[in-house]
Amino acid sequence: MTSSFSNLSLAEPLARAVAEMGYESMTPIQAQAIPVVLTGQDVMGAAQTGTGKTAAFSLPLLQRLLKHENSSTSPARHPVRALVLLPTRELADQVAQQIKMYAKHTNLRSAVVFGGMDMKPQTLELKKGVEVLVATPGRLLDHIEAKNAVLNQVEYVVLDEADRMLDIGFLPDLQRILSYLPKQRTTLLFSATFSPEIKRLANSYLKDPITIEVARPNETASTVEQHFYSVGDDDKRRALKQIVRQRGITQAFVFVNSKLGCARLARSLEREGIKTNALHGDKSQDERLKALAAFKAGEVQLLVCTDVAARGLDIKDVPAVFNFDLPFNAEDYVHRIGRTGRAGASGLAVTFVSKSDGRLVADLEKLLKKKLEIEAVEFEEDRPRGRINDGRRHWRDEGEVGDPRDVLDAPRGPRGPRDVRPAPAPRDPFFDQPYQPPANDATPTWEASAKPAGGRVSANIKPKRKVAALFKAG
Ligand code: AMP
Repeated sequence: MTSSFSNLSLAEPLARAVAEMGYESMTPIQAQAIPVVLTGQDVMGAAQTGTGKTAAFSLPLLQRLLKHENSSTSPARHPVRALVLLPTRELADQVAQQIKMYAKHTNLRSAVVFGGMDMKPQTLELKKGVEVLVATPGRLLDHIEAKNAVLNQVEYVVLDEADRMLDIGFLPDLQRILSYLPKQRTTLLFSATFSPEIKRLANSYLKDPITIEVARPNETASTVEQHFYSVGDDDKRRALKQIVRQRGITQAFVFVNSKLGCARLARSLEREGIKTNALHGDKSQDERLKALAAFKAGEVQLLVCTDVAARGLDIKDVPAVFNFDLPFNAEDYVHRIGRTGRAGASGLAVTFVSKSDGRLVADLEKLLKKKLEIEAVEFEEDRPRGRINDGRRHWRDEGEVGDPRDVLDAPRGPRGPRDVRPAPAPRDPFFDQPYQPPANDATPTWEASAKPAGGRVSANIKPKRKVAALFKAG
């Protein structure tokens, strides 16, 4: 299979845009998906953000829409022909920006709509007519109901980050949106994992899809060095500090399973002089934005967070991720460690496994289809064990709670006596707030060093040979 864009016979305006972006060769998902999408077939693609999947679906889609290209000012001549759905406003914004770049030498129009923003400017743009509409599901439904968006001429629909859309609880919204679309269309679904729910969604809405995988479903990025350590709950914090110190980790995400555990761990690390911040569902939007800005600016070393709070935040390529607690849902492991070691950059994922985690380890082994090698931590020096009488409350339980499920960041759903997993995370009001781009547009510290000098090629994508090596062959 060729990996050069020049062999694709892309129309000149698209080829020119690609050349201006500085792309030299296709990434694996592009090499596989573009020729298929160009034929108009449905696609089910297993690929994460950072693999170049936006171009993989938008370039062939724009190419096929070129037959409708016109310079008329009449809105009727610019009906929505392609719909791209994403779970968060940040992702929607990023994808829309990329599509604008690829379409800039054409007369095809694109727009993005997402929640938390005034509907008026979005309405004005929609009323002028756009061929490609990028949207989050909730806000799109608002526009459909207000009759601002008419979808009866849609030929292509892309369900991007479909697993996250289901996690956030968008399934009913997606079903409604899909019911407004013509039956005769091409549907492309991209997801980091192919869970049974994703397969069900695909069975209902895709026709004989071609499956494309750049990393096997549920396989974690091969650039991530993964370690599992057997650590008692009492020793997790000590193990965390030691690994951070020994490995010289400048910045990391530390995932915990409960809000309370998150707040307590962040507080105690802060007390010990480590620049730490907490990100969980009880934090105000302002606190969260400040925590993120400080992390991006490199002022915070460890960002302790829950799955719900971290979801939807486009922070990637972090040098390391710690699973202070093994996630209750094995698939969250894939999402969590996907924050490090994105295409091109190598990352470290460290997971602490305690004695009570037997069932979660078994779930994870099933998902990853391999036996986990659980190592022991060798502590540098011994500290006195047992109760520490320092006049303060004993802090043995600072990173844990009696029953972590009591303070989960997600509400508890109905479950049988043996099934103790939390229900899928709800929509988080934080993500319904207006999108606020970072005040200072500077590149996050952990990405700055990865940027190639001069070129416009993404820091996430390294030259072809290296990219190809990241993905194990089928
Ligand atoms: P995505 O996975 O679509 O979010 O893309 C991640 C980044 O890779 C974006 O910044 C793209 O501009 C960049 N990118 C996409 N395709 C290529 C390519 N063929 N070569 C270099 N960079 C690319």
